[in-house]
Amino acid sequence: MDLPMRFETKVIHAGVQPDAQTGAVMTPIYQTSTYAQASPGEHRGYEYSRTDNPTRTVLQAQLADLESAEKALVFSSGLASIDAVVNLLKAGDHIVAGDDLYGGTRRLFTKVAANRGIEFSFVDIGNEAALRAEMLPNTKLVWFESPTNPMMIVTDISMVADVARRHGALCAVDNTFMSPYFQRPLELGVDISMHSITKYLNGHSDVVMGALMFNDRPLDDGETLYSRLKFLQNSIGATPGPFDSFLVLRGLKTLAVRMQRHADNAMKIAEYLELHPKVERVLYPGLASHPQYEIAKRQASGFSGMMTFLLRSDLAGTRRFLEAVRLFTLAESLGGVESLIEHPATMTHASVPAEVRKQIGILDNLIRVSVGIEAVDDLLADLDKALAAV
Ligand SMILES: *Cc1c(COP(=O)(O)O)cnc(C)c1O
Repeated sequence: MDLPMRFETKVIHAGVQPDAQTGAVMTPIYQTSTYAQASPGEHRGYEYSRTDNPTRTVLQAQLADLESAEKALVFSSGLASIDAVVNLLKAGDHIVAGDDLYGGTRRLFTKVAANRGIEFSFVDIGNEAALRAEMLPNTKLVWFESPTNPMMIVTDISMVADVARRHGALCAVDNTFMSPYFQRPLELGVDISMHSITKYLNGHSDVVMGALMFNDRPLDDGETLYSRLKFLQNSIGATPGPFDSFLVLRGLKTLAVRMQRHADNAMKIAEYLELHPKVERVLYPGLASHPQYEIAKRQASGFSGMMTFLLRSDLAGTRRFLEAVRLFTLAESLGGVESLIEHPATMTHASVPAEVRKQIGILDNLIRVSVGIEAVDDLLADLDKALAAV
């Protein structure tokens, strides 16, 4: 059956077939660590579940299809998937990374990978001249986010991919904030799209997992990108279990309807906040006032559910606001059906050095919101009440 499928159909059908043995319509949870062999070395494609597990195989096939990729590999967290990409490199290699990154990514780069001899430059990645200036003879990878976390800066993904390709470096983008429903970086020339599945892809705040989606291609040493990343997935062993793989397959089925609602709600909230006298500024790529609104519109089909705003207040007023919200839960993470709110300076980005935070713009009155799929009028009423407390 080779019918072309639209995204809304793919999330339900791509890579998923009724179970060959039983006809089970939903992918079974193959809760096993090992597999019987008929004679030594003679198996049915599965030997040991760190290496491969049938539930995970179905999840990887579906994720690849959603991102317009040939291959997908899943890991036990988003950070484990980023670590696998870093492990494509060796000591003395150089990574050019965007300067506004998920706090844990920056920590992995500067406190773990740097100790293994990987060198880094952090640049304003959307500034083509600045980016080109950092591309050194030993630059092997360009890593960035668009939009960034938490400043919501949108970068021209094709431009960065082009600079990397001309230099012979791999280009990887963290696509967590957008989900493949709104943005598919491989179609824009990127080599590797990475997701914290923990967020929108699973969507229910009950799993931690990560993924890499990519097209296979030869590497310098005769290996291919897939063979090397598959080797690293198995060799490092940060692989998710079958039950979590099942939960993500379940969450993915509603990805399209969830994302549409996240984005609709976020747009209404952004418009409301932008007009509120106690709000200094709203950073949401769907607003015409966003500095990269035109780029965002061109390279994505929507604007997702993440936004950042600055209160006209100090740390104390910001705290009062964050303590006053009721429907928005004060918590790290994002992308679940429930609305979350957080304070990057003291929460998600507390591990970023204070002077770097300031330079990026992560100020004390900056708030990040993950807009859920509740009734938007209830969310607006909650914000309205809490803003009165500022
Ligand atoms: C959460 C997140 C990560 C890390 O993923 P984990 O699943 O928590 O390891 C990386 N990038 C972004 C943008 C994230 O939001």
